[in-house]
Amino acid sequence: MSKYTAIVLAGGSGKRMGQDTPKQYLPLAGKPLLYYPLRAFENSKVDEIVLVVAAGEEAYCRKEFVEQYHLTKVTAIVAGGAERYDSVYNGLQEATGDYVLVHDGARAFITEEIIHATMEKVEKCHACVVAVPLKDTVKEVNSAGIVEGTPDRSRLWAVQTPQAFSREKLLSSYNIIRNQSMADITDDAMIVERAGNGPVEVVRGSYENIKITTREDLLYGESILAHREGDFEAK
Ligand code: C5P
Repeated sequence: MSKYTAIVLAGGSGKRMGQDTPKQYLPLAGKPLLYYPLRAFENSKVDEIVLVVAAGEEAYCRKEFVEQYHLTKVTAIVAGGAERYDSVYNGLQEATGDYVLVHDGARAFITEEIIHATMEKVEKCHACVVAVPLKDTVKEVNSAGIVEGTPDRSRLWAVQTPQAFSREKLLSSYNIIRNQSMADITDDAMIVERAGNGPVEVVRGSYENIKITTREDLLYGESILAHREGDFEAK
């Protein structure tokens, strides 16, 4: 049977929230935001969780999350790096699964259903991303603010996490592109695509699987949780 590792990323500073407390520790319905994705992976069929946190916050996170909420699947807590892709790479070093599911800790509302759909898909295709069809029309706009084009919306998807890969494929992709500029890398799949290690397939996600980025997102998050009627607690 294949082994699956979730790499949960919480190594960012969350500056866009405009608070001193990093956003992953802000309270959401009485619990810190990072609790929710960790609980979803703990309750799922993944075998282990590697938690990536800001350097120096390892002990705090072990006490406040792993011990406080009895998270038995967290096998390592590692320091993140300067950029998101550095944090993923650090997490990968501790992952022992055949497959890795890389997840933004700020996407608090990931469900077990989507996690399991991602696990099934990656076992078949070795590289996949959770995504939803775009609702808005997208325009290409130049630096003068002039619209230059309108891509066909029916082909556009907004990409979320988890993004899942065979561990070997993601590691070898990092090794291939490590010496190139990575400044424009915005998700994990881009590393695989750029290394020529695709194709990457899509798993249908949920519009609720938002990344908490600004204060308004916290308000929306509270209402998502309220509608779930204590699902997280019940499990
Ligand atoms: O900054 P952004 O919202 O895009 O970050 C997405 C996720 O990646 C967050 O959960 C954040 O904590 C994490 N991250 C990280 N290391 C970084 C930057 C972001 O683990 N250097």
